[in-house]
Amino acid sequence: MRIGFGYDVHALAEGLDLVLGGVKVPSAVGCVAHSDGDVAIHALCDALLGAVALGDIGKLFPDTDMAYKGIDSTILLERTVELIRKEGYEIGNVDITIALQAPKLRPHIDQMRARLAEVMGVEVEAVSVKATTTERLGFEGRGEGVSAYAVVLLKGNVLERTLF
Ligand code: MG
Repeated sequence: MRIGFGYDVHALAEGLDLVLGGVKVPSAVGCVAHSDGDVAIHALCDALLGAVALGDIGKLFPDTDMAYKGIDSTILLERTVELIRKEGYEIGNVDITIALQAPKLRPHIDQMRARLAEVMGVEVEAVSVKATTTERLGFEGRGEGVSAYAVVLLKGNVLERTLF
């Protein structure tokens, strides 16, 4: 078994889409980013890559590469999970915390879990998404940005190990 941790931040600005956990959340502000700015997925990808020591999302999908401009982050997650499986690992469970002052994310949490589970090809019970405000403290609390933390547990694929 291997554990991984990921963290990501994006600035918020008016008139942009707010996409979190693969779900577009109705909001007056959205993420400033090269991709769709889905911090939850970016933290999750970094956790997955970290667990197998394959670097990070910036190394795999550089933001200097125009191929990734405005890209749907679920595509990055799909590719990341493919890599993990190629390394001989399967996802045990993932746990994500998103820190955002507003809007409230609770109404969208189950949709995020379902979407992330679908993209990763795992049961929804293996995917936890939590949201917190920061009590108006720090950049999240002032509404200047959104951050996300993710941890994952990977299980070695026993079948693959036996075969090779
Ligand atoms: Mg990012």
